[in-house]
Amino acid sequence: MMGQWTVSYQTANAEDGKNEKGGNVMTPERQAAIIAVLRQRGVIQPCQRCGHPTFEPCGERDITLKSLSKHLAMPTIMLACKQCGMLAEHAARPLGLAE
Ligand SMILES: [Zn+2]
Repeated sequence: MMGQWTVSYQTANAEDGKNEKGGNVMTPERQAAIIAVLRQRGVIQPCQRCGHPTFEPCGERDITLKSLSKHLAMPTIMLACKQCGMLAEHAARPLGLAE
């Protein structure tokens, strides 16, 4: 389709993918699994801020959701735009990627 972007993903850990001691926060195998699922689900749009087509899985975290009776954890996967650093965050459970 003319004009349609195809997003690309990088698996090499960039500086953004390292913790404060310089260690990688995701394994290449985990990054590859995430990329495979996103491609299979048709996650192909470029960065919404700068239009760059390359993202890198850079980390995972739990978002704490407050409910009436308790706090619930929502596991998420974060990807960073390689040009502007815009973060895209996906809920892991709908992708089958919750650990
Ligand atoms: Zn961007």
